[in-house]
Amino acid sequence: MSFQYLGQEVDANTEFETVIGLEVHVQLATDSKIFSKAKSRLLEGDSVSEESVNANTTEICAGHPGTLPSLNKKAVEYAIKAGLATNCKINLKSIFSRKHYFYADLPKGYQISQFDLPVCEHGSLEVELGENGAISKKIGITRIHMEEDAGKSVHLSGFSLINLNRAGTPLVEVVSEPDMRTPEEAGAYLRKLYAIVTCIGVCDGNLQEGNFRCDANVSVRPKGSTKLGTRTETKNVNSFRFVEKAIEYEMERQRQVILSGGKIIQETRLYDSQKNQTFSMRTKEEAEDYRYFPDPDLPPLIIEQSQVDILRASLPELPDQKRDRFIAQFGLTKYDATMITAGKSLAQFFETTVLGSADKNFSKIAANLLNGEAVRLLHEAGIEINESNFKPQHFSELAKMINDKLVSSTAAKQIIAILFSESTPEVGGVAGIVDREGLKQVNDLSALEPIIEKIILDNPKQAEEFRSGKEKIIGFFVGQAMKATQGKANPGMLQDLVIKKLKE
Ligand code: ADP
Ligand code: MG
Repeated sequence: MSFQYLGQEVDANTEFETVIGLEVHVQLATDSKIFSKAKSRLLEGDSVSEESVNANTTEICAGHPGTLPSLNKKAVEYAIKAGLATNCKINLKSIFSRKHYFYADLPKGYQISQFDLPVCEHGSLEVELGENGAISKKIGITRIHMEEDAGKSVHLSGFSLINLNRAGTPLVEVVSEPDMRTPEEAGAYLRKLYAIVTCIGVCDGNLQEGNFRCDANVSVRPKGSTKLGTRTETKNVNSFRFVEKAIEYEMERQRQVILSGGKIIQETRLYDSQKNQTFSMRTKEEAEDYRYFPDPDLPPLIIEQSQVDILRASLPELPDQKRDRFIAQFGLTKYDATMITAGKSLAQFFETTVLGSADKNFSKIAANLLNGEAVRLLHEAGIEINESNFKPQHFSELAKMINDKLVSSTAAKQIIAILFSESTPEVGGVAGIVDREGLKQVNDLSALEPIIEKIILDNPKQAEEFRSGKEKIIGFFVGQAMKATQGKANPGMLQDLVIKKLKE
């Protein structure tokens, strides 16, 4: 069976290509809201708690008649910084518009957003793909515009409640070109954008709170076609992995719809991570349905070029620059350097760990420890490294011990788990753990010799295989010896000794 799609004959043998464009809402980390003095986030020492419903709300957030918005300068600066860090052109004149829709958590009946003249346009960022991030790809950024967030509705049985604490929180929406082709590319784009906005300090990066969330636009087309297929938009996914999974699901769903003669409907969908499926939420509004028009309460936003220049000069070292420096300075692989610079606090932590060291071997070990076991534990717990028990001093000490062959990498894993769950004294903490848990690597030949001799005696068949030329069998003996020493033997030394003893 074959069908027509995008003016082409398609059937089960047709190779499809996925086209992805992402819209990311980035919450700006200003103290107050975008158009009012109300607090936009909790600050240290605040007496109200997160649960203080409607505490951070003024007449402006509630849309009372007669109130007037006034623009938060910091929010504008943050939006411009985001644009500069993603190679955008900054529009010295931009316009705030009203985007109309009716919803209970939007008391004004419209959201203030930027429409035809956004503050930033025509940007791009580079992502690294493939093994060790060897392939670079440029993804276009269409625009970055400023807007206010809506409130929150809480639906209970038979009635709903509205919390306006979030209403008027400053956001930028970063809209990409439909340049991505695979879930991997989309994931890489999101991680890079996240690294940038957290590195320059315009977003706190809290994914659980939805402070960085993504709408994924996905369509498919026969490979080679230059036309765009009909897209669906999967809304508000706040985990990188889930965005990748939602796209994977959506591309296969669309292919099947087309190959069964159905029609892709342009619609908004939701992703259910438990079921790993997307579901239709509503058919998509077209821009004209929103009745956009310039907000008469807000004059055009005029920015001086000198202000842009000052902001550009104030940007810190960006993740790509940092990655290249880490490669050159510490001898990290591109992959390790990309991982380390993916979040601000990890990069800082790493720099403190290797402080001043010119020993590239030591730095590489430190990077591996952080990227491996440490990041895994942090990820599991859903926290950043600076919120954990981990201290750079410990990783420095541990990396040195590994470098000096005092502990094995197996033992290092155990030590990291202990550092994660216990609060450990800053100085000498790792040595203390090694002593307490008996994790010191056995480098002592005289201690290893009898162990290996016994294993060879106990396994005559394998020893014979080695002597008749099957060198691979060494792995078996090394494994047995590791077991016998509970992973504490120095693996290099062990291997040499096994060979020597087998040849005797
Ligand atoms: P809207 O707000 O209506 O979703 P935007 O212009 O803000 O429109 O965003 C559209 C997003 O969808 C952009 O990221 C764009 O790259 C992407 N996009 C547009 N057409 C397609 C398509 N056919 N397939 C996949 N993505 C698309
Ligand atoms: Mg959209």
